[in-house]
Amino acid sequence: MADAPLAKTPVAHASDEEAPLYAPRKKIYPQSVKGRFRTIKWIVLAITLGIYYLLPFIRWDRGPNAPDQAILADLPNRRFYFFFIEIWPQEVYYITGLLVLAALALFLMNAVAGRIWCGYLCPQTVWTDLFYAVERWVEGDRRERMRKAGEKPTVKTVGQKVLKHTIWLMIAWWTGGAWVLYFSDAPTLVKDLATFQAPAVAYIWIGILTFTTYTLAGFMREQVCTYMCPWPRIQAALTDEYALNVTYRYDRGEPRGSAKKNDALRKQGLPAGDCVDCVQCVAVCPTGVDIRNGLQLDCIQCGLCIDACDSVMAKIGRPTGLIAYDTDMNVQARIEGRPEIRRIVRPRTILYAGMIAVVGFVMLAALAMRTSIDVSVMHDRNPVFVRLSDGSIRNAYTVRVANKHLEERSYTLNVEGLPGAQVDVVAGRIDQQGRPIVSVGPDQTLEMRVLVTAVGEHPGETTDVRFVITDLTSGEAAYANDHFKAPR
Ligand code: SF4
Ligand code: SF4
Repeated sequence: MADAPLAKTPVAHASDEEAPLYAPRKKIYPQSVKGRFRTIKWIVLAITLGIYYLLPFIRWDRGPNAPDQAILADLPNRRFYFFFIEIWPQEVYYITGLLVLAALALFLMNAVAGRIWCGYLCPQTVWTDLFYAVERWVEGDRRERMRKAGEKPTVKTVGQKVLKHTIWLMIAWWTGGAWVLYFSDAPTLVKDLATFQAPAVAYIWIGILTFTTYTLAGFMREQVCTYMCPWPRIQAALTDEYALNVTYRYDRGEPRGSAKKNDALRKQGLPAGDCVDCVQCVAVCPTGVDIRNGLQLDCIQCGLCIDACDSVMAKIGRPTGLIAYDTDMNVQARIEGRPEIRRIVRPRTILYAGMIAVVGFVMLAALAMRTSIDVSVMHDRNPVFVRLSDGSIRNAYTVRVANKHLEERSYTLNVEGLPGAQVDVVAGRIDQQGRPIVSVGPDQTLEMRVLVTAVGEHPGETTDVRFVITDLTSGEAAYANDHFKAPR
């Protein structure tokens, strides 16, 4: 008997069809707020933007042959200047060290107070905050903006929009403009930009950064934090129960209700919370989060809801701190009548702080011990050796000497490990003792061909040799190891 045809497996359920793949964006109109954390955010905003915009104009005297800009990424000459430090391309590990330090600092911040970086220091937060301030100044606070959004545009509202976008574009343009100043002498580049004599690449970069700043801070705003940035996910995996986060103390806030009703309940000795359900904490939130629903991925931990709630508590005569930097563990402890636990010093914070100290110390030590000469050697590959007519063996090398001084220096070149060897620098000089001498210009690198000839005793198949470069002025030396090759 033939098998009955199988019933088709349903591919979708009604509930699947109802659930949208992506949540539609809810337009957010954050309300202005005053308070401790708002003040801290204004101060941080002023300091960080001040540093970003003004730093390229700070001068640092390095002598006659070097740029006098304190922070400069000199790409044509492949140098990075940071005040008294000059980093050459082969010292890029300092940049790696700085990135490691930055990552560890972020981990430490996270272990102490959650997403404090996101709430106060992240460029996305800082510029979005600035753009919101412009929006409020031009179009009014939350209610006014919400009302205007629901009305037909008028000449006045269109004019306000044009003004807002013009200011946004000016800020965005300055952001891009400041960025390129880190790559060239700032005062000269400003003059060249103003007279349209700057290189095209400067205008292109300003254009790119104007566009990204205008888009990210003016339009995408909280969407960047919620959907684009990987840090909230990484942070969620790194955090622990002791990290302080902006927390709604539901042990104090619930059951929520109107101030009048809760007062009446309190007088009757019945349970009544401090939350009056005014949703001021939601109205001021730049990401539209209701913190009373618990810790959420969208919350950037800016603390503005704390300010909003504190002012409500002050008005209704209840203690402030219904929303505060706290932990869910403490909320639970209070409910159960146990003492609160605040543990900033714990294994993970000690570990991060220790790692910061170690990496910082290693970098400082490397900086203190760095030489002002560098030498690198590359052995010729083909042929690896040459037998001369008198039977002696010669190897050829490319030797590169870097003079990090800001004046010309002369160096002697010695080859150790091959007694009696004759060392010749192609087109080089010889001093009175027969040693090859090379002169390298200020802050420059010299590449030279060096011929080493084993004289006398036949060397082994491979002999370790060391190229030693000695500064004739200071006596400072640098070396590089290589091999001398000979036939069996
Ligand atoms: S601001 Fe405070 S009182 Fe008002 S809803 Fe939020 S938590 Fe409750
Ligand atoms: S919930 Fe509070 S701390 Fe979190 S983003 Fe909103 S205002 Fe900031």
